[in-house]
Amino acid sequence: MCMPECPNDAIYMGAKIFEINPDKCTECVGHYDKPTCVSVCPIDCIKPDLNRVESLDELAEKYVRLTS
Ligand code: SF4
Repeated sequence: MCMPECPNDAIYMGAKIFEINPDKCTECVGHYDKPTCVSVCPIDCIKPDLNRVESLDELAEKYVRLTS
């Protein structure tokens, strides 16, 4: 359910499970108020990557990079 909802085309089918490309994920900053993949997930399986925490400014910069 999440893949078609991602505004950044960041979700793809990995070797075993769906995965998120962190270089394309803005946590929906620039598109929505909260991560839309999390909102639509029926099994609550999308968790933050604690090894890659990004600030709001960093996410906003990524959004500008991806959309310019
Ligand atoms: S948080 Fe938003 S941008 Fe990141 S993978 Fe989910 S839907 Fe895509």
